[in-house]
Amino acid sequence: MRAVKIQILTIFPEMCGAILGGSILGRAREKGLAALEAVDLRRWTEDRHRTTDDAPYGGGPGMVMKIGPIDRALGELRTPGSKVVFLSPQGRTLTQAIATELADESHLILLCGHYEGVDQRVSDHLVDDEISIGDYVLTSGVLPALVLADAVVRLLPGVLGDSRSAVEDSFVAGCLDHPHYTRPENYRGWLVPGILLSGNHEAIKKWRAEKSAEATRTKRPDLMQAVAVTAGRSGGRP
Ligand code: SAM
Repeated sequence: MRAVKIQILTIFPEMCGAILGGSILGRAREKGLAALEAVDLRRWTEDRHRTTDDAPYGGGPGMVMKIGPIDRALGELRTPGSKVVFLSPQGRTLTQAIATELADESHLILLCGHYEGVDQRVSDHLVDDEISIGDYVLTSGVLPALVLADAVVRLLPGVLGDSRSAVEDSFVAGCLDHPHYTRPENYRGWLVPGILLSGNHEAIKKWRAEKSAEATRTKRPDLMQAVAVTAGRSGGRP
């Protein structure tokens, strides 16, 4: 059994508790499939006030996180198999493909920025990858780190109750997922499509494939184009 270790390095480790301990991440931890931990960066400060930030050279608003505590923390946490990922709005944008790539790693250290940002020398010299969760700016890297940890952990074998779930999700094959329904069959006159009650598995499979293509065409035509290009390259039909 392969277990992945994920450490979230932050000055606000208490923000991570409920997410790392709850639901599917908590279960992955209990089953020994993932070792998830929030690590307090202040452990590596050297002054009485446990300082992790300072005013920016050149002036300007806000405070900048110092390189010293981060360097000392990574020096202690990093092992030969580690990958250090800095969560940053300037990184490559997180996708399902990147989550899949990171799920192959054995040890991820997710470095969270706070305040105005982090001393540039951290990006330049200390991290292996820089990942953004989208083109908007949050107050800290804690939520992005938790988003990334969640996206990675649910892909690990044995974490989801039924492994087909992760394979059939949106983006995995390039398209959006098909619609899902559950009881009751009729809610305020809004009916579950009859085909799903037919018991005809072949017909249901075909209906789901059509609905998946339809959702992708209408909600995310950009994905449809990407699927068509990939299929074209491999000589298949979109
Ligand atoms: N001044 C920085 C800039 O414009 O690039 C933004 C700093 S932001 C207020 C503070 C920290 O939050 C960042 O260092 C990063 O760790 C995290 N953060 C904010 N938005 C993010 C995003 N979209 N993806 C990943 N991390 C983000």
